[in-house]
Amino acid sequence: MWWKRIENQTLLAIFLAILFGLIFPEVKTFEVLGQIFLRLLKMVVLPLVFTSVFVSLAGMGTLRAFERLGFLSLIYYLFTTALAVITGLVLVHLLHPAAYLSSLAAPKLNPLSLQDLLLELFPENMVRSFAEDRIIPVLFLGLVLGGACLHTGEKGEPLKVLLESLNETLLTLTRGIIRLTPVGVFFLVAPLVAREGLQPLLDLGHYVATVILGLSLHALFTLPLLLRLLARVSPWRYFLAVREAPFLAFSTASSSATLPVTLEVAEERGGVRREVAGFVLPLGATVNMDGTALYEAVAAMFMAFSYGLTPGIKESLLVFLTAVLASVGAAGIPGAGLVTMTLVLQSIGLPLEGLGLILAVDRFLDMLRTSVNVWGDLVGAKIIDRALSPQGG
Ligand code: ASP
Repeated sequence: MWWKRIENQTLLAIFLAILFGLIFPEVKTFEVLGQIFLRLLKMVVLPLVFTSVFVSLAGMGTLRAFERLGFLSLIYYLFTTALAVITGLVLVHLLHPAAYLSSLAAPKLNPLSLQDLLLELFPENMVRSFAEDRIIPVLFLGLVLGGACLHTGEKGEPLKVLLESLNETLLTLTRGIIRLTPVGVFFLVAPLVAREGLQPLLDLGHYVATVILGLSLHALFTLPLLLRLLARVSPWRYFLAVREAPFLAFSTASSSATLPVTLEVAEERGGVRREVAGFVLPLGATVNMDGTALYEAVAAMFMAFSYGLTPGIKESLLVFLTAVLASVGAAGIPGAGLVTMTLVLQSIGLPLEGLGLILAVDRFLDMLRTSVNVWGDLVGAKIIDRALSPQGG
């Protein structure tokens, strides 16, 4: 039934929110419900990022597997994610999408200095990083503790099992929160329309077009070029062989839910060896999200422009770094990119309320970026397979 699907409910909620906002200005008083939805999203982000990163590192099985495939995959993933973010940033600077939020008080851009950012990576105190809501050191902790757990061997096992279970539980909770999206969207959009009229939503057209253009460039140009250059594979033929996975990703908006199909098509039809696919694709579904990174960078810049601010090189660099990190920390479930975007916004001092502005179109963009995420994983698996194959080189 069409109304059971959350993307349809969200669309309906947007439609109703616009009507309500235009007809009943009093809906402004219910703004708090939208804020609560944002808080729920924020509540899960730190533990979710920590456990996702920890579990994917600690779950690498053997040390040899970690050395052979792990480094190559991580380096390749970071490289393509960085390319995606650069595409998004260049487009956003060229096209300047913005919805001017006249009645919202413009915050001052308050970016961390580069030195601070570097220091910020290294936590002074593990517990304080969590208590102060600082996601970059938490990611770093996830990485180093996950790696240490892998090296600890048998005695590290209970910790791994515990954090795996915490991760699963958090994912269940996140899925529950994401189910509230239609309601959250309603109470974020209706007060906004009541206050601002329709203009901000119409202006989103420009933002949506920028994200779609960026995603298309990355999926149709950058990734195929890498596939041809690094693996000497025809991108079109490979896409036709594995297309089921990106299509499924579009309808589920979840890299993790698509993973069984991604594995199947890569091995059975894409010619990726089982031992490579079995390692690279699950890792990719958690850490490699080109589409999400691109979207987060465009969205953060869009919000900055919308507040009438002009982000410079330093802000762009911070958005670049944090969008890459935030996409690594995002889980492969619907809406996860929206949750970790708080990191990107915080890095340049933007208020989280700005998220309300883009929520209205988020589900649709989520479907698109998830397809790009999964296509990116499949391209990565093929390239890594070739690089490690005896004849590949
Ligand atoms: N839904 C995306 C995925 O599963 C993550 C995101 O929200 O960007 O890949």
